[in-house]
Amino acid sequence: MPRRSDLEQKALQFIANTGEAGVLQSDLWRQLDASSREGSRISIKLENKGLIRRERELSEGRWTYRLYPKRKRASINSIIDCPCLTCLENIRCGAYGATSPNDCEKLTDWLISLTQEGSDLSGDS
Ligand code: SF4
Repeated sequence: MPRRSDLEQKALQFIANTGEAGVLQSDLWRQLDASSREGSRISIKLENKGLIRRERELSEGRWTYRLYPKRKRASINSIIDCPCLTCLENIRCGAYGATSPNDCEKLTDWLISLTQEGSDLSGDS
């Protein structure tokens, strides 16, 4: 039988890979060959560490939990329109270079547009 810390690590990895769909607690423990008691203990521990989120769910007439990762995987789409990717100054740009992200207007505008998109999505005005 795997050690608890190994199981905790495997559980976290598995949950992280489920993304927004999450996984039913019972399905996870079946996958990891752990008992439901041990599984419950580990999922509570992961939740207390702030690594996962548990939401109650009725499945096949029984209450269980669906486990979701708290960290979202980074996506290439999040930086696809970053001006640095196509900038001709890119090769010379650096913190101490002649061109620097510290005072780059294009990068600042892009970052501001991201914060505005975020507030548009959340309904802030
Ligand atoms: S920080 Fe500005 S100058 Fe530097 S690579 Fe990005 S867009 Fe170009």
